[in-house]
Amino acid sequence: MKSHAYQNKGVAVFGLGKSGLSTAQRLHDGCANVRVWDDRPAGREAAENAGLDVQNFQTADFSNIDILVLSPGVPLTHPAPHPVVELANRSNVDIVGDVEIFLNEKTAGKLVGITGTNGKSTTSALTHHMLADAGRDTALGGNIGTPVMDLPQLNADGTYVLELSSYQLDLTPSWKADIAVILNVTPDHLDRHGDMAGYTAVKEKIFQNQNKADVAIINIDDAICKEIASKIEADNGAKLTPISVEMEVEAGVTAVGGILVDNTKLGAGWTFDINRLDALRGKHNWQNACAAVAVTRALGLSNAEIAKGLKTFGGLAHRMELVAKRNNVRFINDSKATNAEAAEKSLASFENIFWICGGVAKAGGIESLTPLFSNIRHAYLIGTASKEFAATLDGQASYTVCDALEVAVLKAAEAAELFGQEATVLLAPAAASFDQFKSFESRGNVFRDLVEGLGK
Ligand code: ADP
Repeated sequence: MKSHAYQNKGVAVFGLGKSGLSTAQRLHDGCANVRVWDDRPAGREAAENAGLDVQNFQTADFSNIDILVLSPGVPLTHPAPHPVVELANRSNVDIVGDVEIFLNEKTAGKLVGITGTNGKSTTSALTHHMLADAGRDTALGGNIGTPVMDLPQLNADGTYVLELSSYQLDLTPSWKADIAVILNVTPDHLDRHGDMAGYTAVKEKIFQNQNKADVAIINIDDAICKEIASKIEADNGAKLTPISVEMEVEAGVTAVGGILVDNTKLGAGWTFDINRLDALRGKHNWQNACAAVAVTRALGLSNAEIAKGLKTFGGLAHRMELVAKRNNVRFINDSKATNAEAAEKSLASFENIFWICGGVAKAGGIESLTPLFSNIRHAYLIGTASKEFAATLDGQASYTVCDALEVAVLKAAEAAELFGQEATVLLAPAAASFDQFKSFESRGNVFRDLVEGLGK
């Protein structure tokens, strides 16, 4: 995406991660007067190598800056505004994110925006896959994969599928989606939004500026989202498509017991069984599927196209990813389950589980998972949480302290194979990875490699 809208304008870019760097480069190519800074030397070095003008904003003069592009990771209001935000405010400079710049640069194409506390990436990737599989011109980016400024220009009938975090929504004043989705709002990132009300208000921005021609897709199983739906209905704003996995609803898309029913006008009661789709196991994924079906239906996909798209979706790496199936045993990589809330989803989705968990425990540990311990045949504990997790499991499920993931995989695979019936070796750590790994991705990759190496 070549930038034109900011020609000869003074633009400051703060935060030089993947998206900040890409925005700065595109603006620089489009002849804006770009200045960049990052508190981390690595970011500054990357910018210097790209030929960008690196200046320390603490001492810089903002009088000839028209706009500040802020990385979504930098505090705007809470716990306290970053000094660069205060500098911009003092200098009367507008503060935006890369999505705002993208909106001013994109020439054509519809906008689908997807947000929520959990499920954003899965729903965005599934929606994009279904559109691409049906031969539509489409691009996926934002909080997932490709920074928005690296997306291509699409044709007028093309569709951008954007995953948007609350931070990104907060920095995009012109946001207006043709189709907007909210999956759920549960306590998260409250340090950055003050409180639940502040966090909800930002998430709600996914529907801002919509009118009757636009579509609002809302998970009404979530109490906060249900309230948002009532508001939209009362305001007579966008066309509302409710989604639910708890009950069938008029004019909505639902999946009670894994039977998808599309009661939208275009769907006309079409049903499809998603119970057996490996990449969409569990109620939470049925919810994601309902959202993706509601989006693609609104964009005119046929029953056959929707069914094929759902069936051919491969899932995302590290999110209940099926990495191998040998004899009676499935090996599932859910390394992204870095807290109990996420691990709960996979413990509820399988039976006869040989569970690998541990790492750096979050507050509350695995206490909340106790009702699901009956699905566990044996647990294999790794990392610093071992002692705490063992104390919770004591007397309720059998376990072995393994410390290393290598040992856990070997022991779990052996026991699951001997078990005889259908069984699952599940990496769902319910803990952060950084005591033993660089990231949840690297933990998942090691798991995958170990599984592939078994029996060799
Ligand atoms: P995000 O991009 O919002 O972090 P992901 O699609 O990457 O979401 O899923 C992350 C984790 O969140 C999954 O491993 C799963 O445990 C949980 N999850 C996924 N979809 C949902 C949903 N619709 N509701 C609640 N939890 C979900």
